[in-house]
Amino acid sequence: MQWSAMAWECSLLSDVPEAGLRWQPEAVPAPEWVAFHAALADELGVEQIPEALSICAGNQLPSLDTAMVHLYAGHQFGHFNPSLGDGRALLLGEWVDGQGRRWDFQLKGSGRTPCSRQGDGRATLRSMLREYLISHAMHALGIPTTRALAVVGTGMQVQRDRTEPGAVLLRLSRGLLRIGSLEYQAARSRPAVVQKLMRYVAARRGWIEGADDLSALFMRLMHEQATRVAQWMAVGFIHGVLNTDNISLMGETMDYGPCAFLEHYDPSSVFSSIDRAGRYAYDQQPAVMAWNMGCLARALAVAAGTTMEPWQEMMSAWMPIYQDARLGCMRSKLGLSKSLDGDERLIEDYLLLMQQYKVDWTLGWRQLAESLSENSMAHARLFGGKVVELEQWLERWRQRCLAEQVSEQTILQTMQQHNPARIPRNHHVEQVLTLAEKGEDGPFFRLFHALTNPYTEDAVAAEWQQPADRSFTEEYRTFCGT
Ligand code: AMP
Ligand code: MG
Repeated sequence: MQWSAMAWECSLLSDVPEAGLRWQPEAVPAPEWVAFHAALADELGVEQIPEALSICAGNQLPSLDTAMVHLYAGHQFGHFNPSLGDGRALLLGEWVDGQGRRWDFQLKGSGRTPCSRQGDGRATLRSMLREYLISHAMHALGIPTTRALAVVGTGMQVQRDRTEPGAVLLRLSRGLLRIGSLEYQAARSRPAVVQKLMRYVAARRGWIEGADDLSALFMRLMHEQATRVAQWMAVGFIHGVLNTDNISLMGETMDYGPCAFLEHYDPSSVFSSIDRAGRYAYDQQPAVMAWNMGCLARALAVAAGTTMEPWQEMMSAWMPIYQDARLGCMRSKLGLSKSLDGDERLIEDYLLLMQQYKVDWTLGWRQLAESLSENSMAHARLFGGKVVELEQWLERWRQRCLAEQVSEQTILQTMQQHNPARIPRNHHVEQVLTLAEKGEDGPFFRLFHALTNPYTEDAVAAEWQQPADRSFTEEYRTFCGT
C-alpha cells in the first residue's frame, strides 16, 4: 500500500462540503526528517515511500482532491469566536487502514490559510516535537488521543518571542471534528449541516443505530468526555486550554500546546502563561468540560430545533456520570475492583494527605503498592518520614483490600496497571526539547522510548522518574500558539 497510489478520500469534504475549503499547503525550502513513528506507520499499513518527506513537509499532496481547511468556531476562555478554523493546519485526506478504519491525516504548521488571521501559519520545531512526544505518551498511558506520525524540519525560521527553527507535524486522528465544528454551523443557523456533521461523527464511530438521535448521541459524548477527563485527572494531566475548539467529537485528547503534568499534588495547579484566572487548572477540568458540554448542547438544540430545556435536563447528569468515571479510575489506582461504601472517603483522605505533604502525584501512587503488606520506607519518605495519619490511612486501605477477596498479587497487578512509573515530567520535556532544538536529539528519543511503556519498571528508563525541584515547578510556564 503506498501513500500516493492509495485512493485518498475525504468524506468530510464530500459529505459536508460546508465544513471546509479546498486548500493547499505552502512549500518549505529545506525539508528534513526529525521524527517518524515507524510503528504507527506499520500499524496503519503506511509505507515510508520516497515522496513521504515531501508530503510530510507540505511540499507535495498525496491527492489534490482531498486537501482541505476545516472551518470551526469556538468558545475561548468563555468568549465565543464564530470564525476560527485551521489557521495553520491542513487536512490531507483520509487513510483507510487494513481494518477498514478511517484516519484523518493532518499537517500542522503547513502555512497560511484563509483562517490564519494575523498568524503566520507556521509552527516551531520545539512545539511540534512537544506534541509528538506527549501525544504518544498519552497513547501509551491508555488515553485516546491524536497521534503524531512525523515531524519534519522546514529549514525556515519562525518568529515568536525569539526566532526559532520551524517544523511541520503530521498527526493522525479518528476524525478532527470538535465541538467548535458544530458551533460554527449553529452560529450560521444551519441546523441541517449540524445534523450532517453529527451523522458523520456517528458513522466514524460505528454508531450506526440512532445516528439521527441527537439526544442519544449527546449522552454518548457526555459519557465519553467524562471518562476522558477522569483519565486525565488520574495521570495528573492538565490540558491547559480546554476551549471548545480543542474538544474532539471523537473523544480524543487533542492540541497539546500548553499542557503539563502534575508534579507535587496541588489541585489548583495551572501552568499556562495566559491562564491567569486558573480557568483550566487541574481541578477545574471536570467543571470546565461540563461547561463545554453546555456549548455542545446549544449547537445540538439548534440542529434539533428545540429549546434548551431537555438538554439542560440531560446535562444535569454530568456530575454523577463524571463521579462514577472518576471513582472507577481512582479505585483502580488503589488496586480495588469492587465498589463499596466508604471508597470515596478513602480516596479523598489519601488525596488530602498527598496535598498536605506536597507528595509527587506519580510517585505517591506508584509507590503506594510497596506499602500494601508493610510500611515501605520509600513510600513514607515521600511524606517526609513517619506520619501517623498516613499509617492510619494505610491500615484502613489494607482492610479495604481484604474486602476484595482476591490475592495480594491481584491487587498489586491492578495498581501497577493503573499507576504509571513514568509520565512526561515537565522538566525532562523542556530539557530534551532544548537539546533537540540544538540538534542533539539523543535525549529526546531516550525519553520518548522511556514513555512508551509507562507501566513497567525499567532500570534504564529510571533516569526519567525523578520529580523536578519544587522551585522549577512553581515557576514553570507553558505557552499557546507556538
Ligand atoms: P490553538 O490555540 O492552537 O488551539 O489555536 C487556536 C486558533 O488559532 C486556531 O484557529 C488556530 O488555527 C489558530 N492559530 C494558532 N497558531 C497560529 C499560527 N501560527 N498561524 C495561524 N493561525 C494560528
Ligand atoms: Mg486548537
